[in-house]
Amino acid sequence: MAFKVAIVGRPNVGKSTLFNRLVGRRIALVDDTPGVTRDRRIHPARLQDLRFDVIDTAGLESAAAPTLEGRMRQQTERAIDEADLVLFMVDARTGIMPDDHTFADLVRRKGKPVILVSNKTEGRGAEAGVMEAYSLGLGEPIAISAEHGIGMPELRDAIAEIAGERIEQAQDEEERRALHVNDTLQGDDIDPDAEEPAYDSAKPLSIAIVGRPNVGKSTLINALLGEERMLTGPEAGITRDSISVDWTWRGRPIKLADTAGMRRKSRVQEKLEKLSVGETLRAIRFAEVVIVVFDATQAFDKQDLQIADLIIREGRAPVIAFNKWDLVENPQEMLAELREKVERLLPQVKGLKFVTISAETGRGLDRMMETAVEVHKVWNRRVSTGKLNRWLERATQMHPPPAVSGRRLKVKYMTQVKTRPPGFVISCSRPEVMPQTYIRYLINNLREAFDIYGVPIRVILRTSE
Ligand code: GDP
Ligand code: GDP
Repeated sequence: MAFKVAIVGRPNVGKSTLFNRLVGRRIALVDDTPGVTRDRRIHPARLQDLRFDVIDTAGLESAAAPTLEGRMRQQTERAIDEADLVLFMVDARTGIMPDDHTFADLVRRKGKPVILVSNKTEGRGAEAGVMEAYSLGLGEPIAISAEHGIGMPELRDAIAEIAGERIEQAQDEEERRALHVNDTLQGDDIDPDAEEPAYDSAKPLSIAIVGRPNVGKSTLINALLGEERMLTGPEAGITRDSISVDWTWRGRPIKLADTAGMRRKSRVQEKLEKLSVGETLRAIRFAEVVIVVFDATQAFDKQDLQIADLIIREGRAPVIAFNKWDLVENPQEMLAELREKVERLLPQVKGLKFVTISAETGRGLDRMMETAVEVHKVWNRRVSTGKLNRWLERATQMHPPPAVSGRRLKVKYMTQVKTRPPGFVISCSRPEVMPQTYIRYLINNLREAFDIYGVPIRVILRTSE
């Protein structure tokens, strides 16, 4: 039985935002077939190396109570009853409100272990709100930003401390470290002046192959792993509960996420199969590089775009593989069309890498793997603070930030706080009014200057004083 966590608090404090961060964002968007995720209230979640379940409070429908407040209260109570641990959330920006006290009393009465979480603490001016949360008498608040992923290591440690042996941890210390870097934008443990380290080609590269049903994932995986695997099938080493299959490509160790595609399908199963959202998300999170397979003859289906978007949101290094290229009659025309669609329909990441392959004939698979490694390098890229600020000076001179309500905004300083994917903090005056267009200008220019194409980039604005 997995360790169960409930996120509790009055409306609008950011519960769903944290829920989405832990469980995986926009699951509902990826598959809106009724019954796939909607009716389930317990969702597998992950915070760095910790694996647990989160109870979806909103899913605890109860018709018994007549008023909305009554229903909400009942839902909250039921969630607490089911939980092993309660995350009680307040909003550091609004400060403590009367409703916070009502919910806090409820939580206290239930006597379950509680972690007090003060949300929306990104930027300045949140300290007072965090301090105020002490007045609830639920112990020391942990300052987080559910939206920006700040404070996740602290939250992780608090949960681990309470759960002890009862919580599942990813076995691999290396994975834990990777996730630690991946999930936080604080990056205090990273020396911002460190020069770009050499890329380590001896380290295993984790790859997931995802896509909607019938695009050719299993054919591709079988082609990569070789006939032998295919013939031996799921019984021989490729089991459901194994996380990955170890493999090497040109001497490079590869860990390939174990997904449905690796299991040989019977014909009946094939018909029944639909997109398994949980499995897709699990694979995406496992991986560093995610190869999303599109059927070249019917690419950019709604599900294709949703999966690609999920990979980008999760901050993974994406590669699009247009499969069944052997069926394409006018390759040149098709290529131009697909290129245009990639740019237009997936504008979130500039320079998204794509390759054309035929899983059936094996054509293009080497190129695909080369691309996966290239994208992985970019995903790991670190730009030193010195270079970054020399560039920033030029970029802001060339195109100065605009004035807002009569005062010119100032962009002062920038540092890369994380990699995998690259994440940057920009110190500026009045971040709250900095226009999106200007931030986009900086990011585009940054990509060009340092050749950071094809991977998501994260940016946080901080007030400089
Ligand atoms: P819930 O009603 O408690 O589930 O709250 P939601 O998750 O729906 O969030 C309420 C609002 O707060 C939304 O507009 C979120 O975008 C916003 N929000 C959530 N987390 C943060 C955060 O860390 N910082 C800021 N500034 N806003 C947040
Ligand atoms: P999955 O559901 O994504 O795992 O897709 P499958 O690997 O089961 O493939 C679905 C169908 O597409 C099967 O009939 C495959 O034989 C076919 N297929 C897969 N790759 C190719 C390819 O490169 N070319 C052609 N012509 N057919 C392919």
